[in-house]
Amino acid sequence: MLKIQNLSCGYDTIFSFGQQKNLEFVLQDINLTVEKGQIFGIIGPNGAGKTTLLKAISRILKPKKGKILLDGKDIWQMSFRGLAKKIALVPQTFNSIDMTVEEFVLLGRIPHIKKFQFLESKEDLKVAQNCIKLTEIWELKDQLISNISGGERQLALIAKALTQQPRLLLLDEPSLHLDIAHQVKILDLIKRLNEEFKLTVVMVLHDLNLASEYCEKLVLLNEGKVYQVGTPKEILNSHIIKEVYKTEVLVEENPFSSKPYILLVSQKREVSNEKRVNSDLYGRW
Ligand code: ATP
Repeated sequence: MLKIQNLSCGYDTIFSFGQQKNLEFVLQDINLTVEKGQIFGIIGPNGAGKTTLLKAISRILKPKKGKILLDGKDIWQMSFRGLAKKIALVPQTFNSIDMTVEEFVLLGRIPHIKKFQFLESKEDLKVAQNCIKLTEIWELKDQLISNISGGERQLALIAKALTQQPRLLLLDEPSLHLDIAHQVKILDLIKRLNEEFKLTVVMVLHDLNLASEYCEKLVLLNEGKVYQVGTPKEILNSHIIKEVYKTEVLVEENPFSSKPYILLVSQKREVSNEKRVNSDLYGRW
């Protein structure tokens, strides 16, 4: 469904850990294929280029080299409306606006509104209301979007994206700022949409355990390049994680799902001299 060919892209000015660098590619020579109906996870350390890849797929960022094909068509050759009917993005953050949840979700119908149609149709309203029910925020529909919690706003963002009736749903860190119950609720919903509506999903996840549990395939990005693509079992082992994240972990098998389960290990024992220098500094205070 989605094919990324030799993609390189970046920003005119890059700030990496506070330092300004010359123009260079954030993503370099990315080749990926996402099959129809797949839940595909993008993982990698901070600054690896995960959000940049989502921005490229959703046509926010223009490739400097290479192509992104959706059902064989270059996304930059498609009309904005045509693309918005096929791809919807759930961003990490958005500027809160003074609108009710229902009005906000209805914005997802914009690509479907015909020329000279100034109001949403009954059909548009029905689609939006169905998506509000599906995401279980019906009781919040008349509340201002600025007055609901972070988790509820995340559900409203998903409802708005679904209202676009896309075939490919892109999500940037859907579990960010959510407690464990909301994390499971949102990811279960995404899985349900994938199973019931054959929605293809590409999502950025920091939590490797959630990525392992919910994604069929993962791409591990490191320093703007594809480090490895594969199933959670193929990618999530302590050797690869140490190599890319520079941290020790224990990887076991989740007894319920048989997927890899990552246990974090304190690095305390490994830091000896450096730690002593730091405690000397604290001692002086
Ligand atoms: P994180 O896990 O921390 O969210 P990420 O893997 O999503 O990171 P990106 O947000 O894609 O990483 O950023 C990759 C690189 O591009 C970083 O070095 C970042 O500083 C830089 N970058 C991101 N957005 C911009 C921008 N708008 N302008 C300039 N540089 C940017």
